[in-house]
Amino acid sequence: MAEHEADVAVVGAGFAGLTAARELERRGHSVVVIEARDRVGGRVLNEDIGDGNVLEVGGQWVGPGQDRLYALAREMGVETYPTHAKGENLIEFRGEVKRYTGTIPRISAAVLADVAQAQRKLDRLARKVDLEAPWRTPDAERLDSQTFWSWMRRNVYTAGGRMLIELGIEGVWAAEPKDLSLLHVAFYVASAGKYDLLLDTEGGAQQERFVGGSQLVAIRAAEKLGDRVVLGAPVRRIVHSGETVSVIADGVTAWAKRVIVAIPPPLAGRIAYDPPLPGHRDQLTQRMPQGSVIKCMAIYDEPFWRKDGLAGIATSDVGPAKVIFDNSPPDGSPGVLLGFLEGRRAREYTRVSQQERREAVVGTFARLFGPRAADPERYIDKSWAEEEWTRGCYGCYLPTGGWTAYGDALKAPIGRIHWAGTETASVWMGYIDGAIRSGERAAAEVAAAL
Ligand SMILES: Cc1cc2nc3c(=O)[nH]c(=O)nc-3n(C[C@H](O)[C@H](O)[C@H](O)COP(=O)(O)OP(=O)(O)OC[C@H]3O[C@@H](n4cnc5c(N)ncnc54)[C@H](O)[C@@H]3O)c2cc1C
Repeated sequence: MAEHEADVAVVGAGFAGLTAARELERRGHSVVVIEARDRVGGRVLNEDIGDGNVLEVGGQWVGPGQDRLYALAREMGVETYPTHAKGENLIEFRGEVKRYTGTIPRISAAVLADVAQAQRKLDRLARKVDLEAPWRTPDAERLDSQTFWSWMRRNVYTAGGRMLIELGIEGVWAAEPKDLSLLHVAFYVASAGKYDLLLDTEGGAQQERFVGGSQLVAIRAAEKLGDRVVLGAPVRRIVHSGETVSVIADGVTAWAKRVIVAIPPPLAGRIAYDPPLPGHRDQLTQRMPQGSVIKCMAIYDEPFWRKDGLAGIATSDVGPAKVIFDNSPPDGSPGVLLGFLEGRRAREYTRVSQQERREAVVGTFARLFGPRAADPERYIDKSWAEEEWTRGCYGCYLPTGGWTAYGDALKAPIGRIHWAGTETASVWMGYIDGAIRSGERAAAEVAAAL
């Protein structure tokens, strides 16, 4: 049994945990980071596809307003490049494939106007949200008592408009309108700034990618911490009754003055605490499910769709891949189409073989981009619900009643235990940038307490 002693123990070496540890070290405190997996980066993961290229099977994009991620990448010497978005986009709607430009497909003038008015209403709702304490938002009870689906029924008037808004919701939350509290949607939009910022490629959260893959940023941040990061050690138990906290992992025990738990709330709820945590905190962790997503990529010898004037960005009302991007490396070789299976389709396709997923996803690509798309050189995918140390993605959401009943338990420390992770971020919750901000906030909290 390896033993470590430090001022602060950090559970989880995702962007939140790594940031908290580095920030505490910068302030002169000793740290140890204990990570369940045999790698760092958490929900951010590169897959090597040969010839010096990587593809990201987890979080990958960065965009305007995500200043903390840009700053960290700069510090780690990782450059960004624009997501390929030149050319026309495609939409498959009611059996027809059409080209369009801009974020919102032009199904018809009425649908376009409908989506625009719904987005304006959402942005207006978001402007009212109290980012630090969403449960104190004016009218919080009313907003938190309805699902986004109920709101959509009253505020989106056309079938095409509802389809597009639903696609947007699934794309951002990997959950369906019926899953989400309206207050949570409004909070999340506020936390990013505007609804458009969540959806857009150019000018939005999908604007840029990282040369060498997003995980490189985490790998380099972990290198700075060296042997203070302990891998392959799932934390099972935290004893916090005395002056010292004991963090007990498989094969490793760490003693510290404080602990920062930087993992998604449902997983934090699976650690045993001694003494047990207050019921209010535990019940929060029972009410923050992870979304469901499978990230799927087909690899071709070249991005042939670009020659047809297509950006590689597409949406489909049948899918099962409903949101599609060109995910080729910076020099466009090989060509890569990326499709997401989200919400109910992720639940459905996580229970079939990868071969069946491949057929379904490549089938969507072929309907949109033509017969060449039917025959990729290679196909890869990752179902995040299957990952023992994540259990879903992109992040956790709050269903109705969650924020107003339990929101105050999300980041409130309990004695010597502090909470980080993108789910605790007020700005860019759910994103890598939010994870970094949460690590900074938790480190400041602990530094003040030490
Ligand atoms: C498919 C996909 C696409 C995404 N796309 C984007 C995107 O384009 N842009 C973006 O900004 N964000 C994206 N995200 C979200 C983004 O990846 C996350 O918000 C962010 O990485 C979360 O970081 P974190 O440090 O809060 O949590 P995590 O990355 O989940 O880190 C938690 C760490 O704790 C470890 N852990 C868990 N339990 C234990 C335990 N008991 N003991 C020890 N260690 C434990 C885990 O192994 C993990 O390493 C995406 C996510 C996915 C999965």
